[in-house]
Amino acid sequence: MTTTVYRARKIITLESGQPEATHVAVREGRILAVGDLERCAAWGPYDLDERFADKVLMPGLVEGHCHLKEGSMWEWTYTGWFDRRDPDGKVWPGLRSMDAVVARLAEIAARMDAEGQAASAPLIAWGFDPIYFGGERMTVEHLDRASAVRPIIIAHANGHLMNVNTAMLRSAEITRDNEVEGVVKFDAGHAQAGEPTGELQEPAAMFLVLRKIGNAGLLAPMTETGVRSFARLACRQGVTTATDLVNKLSEDDVRVLEAALADDAVSIRILPAFQAFHGTHAAQAGAEHVKALMARNTDRLRYGLVKMMLDGSIQGFSARLRWPGHYNGAPNGIWVMAPAQYEADFETYHRAGLLVHTHTNGDEASEVAIDAIGRVLARAPRPDHRHTLQHGQMIDAPLFRRMASLGLCANLFANHLWYWGDQHYEMTMGPDRAMRLDACGSALAAGVPLAIHSDAPVTPLGPLFTAWCAVNRVTPQGRVLGEAEKLTVLQALHAITLGPAYTLRLDHEIGSIACGKRADFCVLEDDPLAVDPMALKDVRVWGTVLSGRVFQAV
Ligand SMILES: [Zn+2]
Repeated sequence: MTTTVYRARKIITLESGQPEATHVAVREGRILAVGDLERCAAWGPYDLDERFADKVLMPGLVEGHCHLKEGSMWEWTYTGWFDRRDPDGKVWPGLRSMDAVVARLAEIAARMDAEGQAASAPLIAWGFDPIYFGGERMTVEHLDRASAVRPIIIAHANGHLMNVNTAMLRSAEITRDNEVEGVVKFDAGHAQAGEPTGELQEPAAMFLVLRKIGNAGLLAPMTETGVRSFARLACRQGVTTATDLVNKLSEDDVRVLEAALADDAVSIRILPAFQAFHGTHAAQAGAEHVKALMARNTDRLRYGLVKMMLDGSIQGFSARLRWPGHYNGAPNGIWVMAPAQYEADFETYHRAGLLVHTHTNGDEASEVAIDAIGRVLARAPRPDHRHTLQHGQMIDAPLFRRMASLGLCANLFANHLWYWGDQHYEMTMGPDRAMRLDACGSALAAGVPLAIHSDAPVTPLGPLFTAWCAVNRVTPQGRVLGEAEKLTVLQALHAITLGPAYTLRLDHEIGSIACGKRADFCVLEDDPLAVDPMALKDVRVWGTVLSGRVFQAV
């Protein structure tokens, strides 16, 4: 039974009883003691490991809402506004105009032609968001310039929308007669009035295309290579535990996850959330499926979460908002599932003892979820359920107080403050409501257990960046969105460690550095509590320790 004692420049424990330490003793993958050398040595013989002597240790970071696709999206063409680093460290420059997006697609289409790829092979791109181009919507008129023959699918950054070209519309047989909600048509004044524009909003409309191409974008099946890429990326960001917050958990998905995560070289613990089946019988079958999988849980792979969705995305204008709705007058968004169905199926998963994470972006969706969960809890009380609203971007103080009374947790999308803060101010929410976007301060004041997240690949994985967003609340144009909603650095570090661990029912195992917990550390070159809060995002990550195994970021 070997014991390793690590000496560090500083250990930030996130435990109020002993916030700082210099030494931590690790045995059998767990924390045996934390404090000074004397306290660690009291447990008997040990090896002193000095490799972190000039580093700062904090608990391994926990990403409570991301997707493993962050590791595999790079098989397709990146078309986002912001520069972005791929899993191999290469930086892809952002595209700053619709023309630049079309030019990159045309270039890829030409390369696919030159490589002799069949004309029917689709060109898939991701990360696109027209809101940065002043609200001009993309249509077939843009995409047909990139290719008139090869089907093109460009997934929006929010994962809720896509655009396709005429070749793809034709192959998917989407015409002016299509009645599916979310198939956008040209307005009356347009030469093509009534014809589909190529924009498809939310799953029902996107499915018309995905069923043709065998699933792409956020819905593509996971591969083992993708999981390994994700683990490399996570290590570089100090993350030791992450969710895959929507997974069909089909036989193939389970095989891929179990194969990848049985390998000790894969430096991540994953909690896949089951993509809820809906309907009386299906929800029951779904709940039983998850419970059967839970018997196979290991340290690094934990089943037991269920993901449900109520509405769309704010910047995609598909979120459900309360009065007075969108600042720019756009109509209210889309119910991804009917509220009554949500309540019935939520109750099935809840009664099965599972932990449900619900996507609610707009405040009407959050209110509907809170109403429904309140009724379910009255019929079927369950202490310590930890059901969580995910995103909850427009939740206000009264809704947070209701959440606290119901025992609901919030995992807020703090990265939005940076990535879409100016657009929310100018177009979607307007100046006053933009101040309460991802209202972390109000959540804590109401006593709601709080986590913050990236929703990678919607925005890049990086909890220290997410913490920076919640601490500073600045936008690319230099606005500060809601001084009163700022977190302190220590509160933000809690919201990327113990906070999400609580929403995943893992706070007894991970999230802080304390005797008995897993030896999960984020190894830093700089001290996040000592730097200027505006430099929090620049704190350098050396690597991680996961259940006692050391991984240097590559
Ligand atoms: Zn998500």
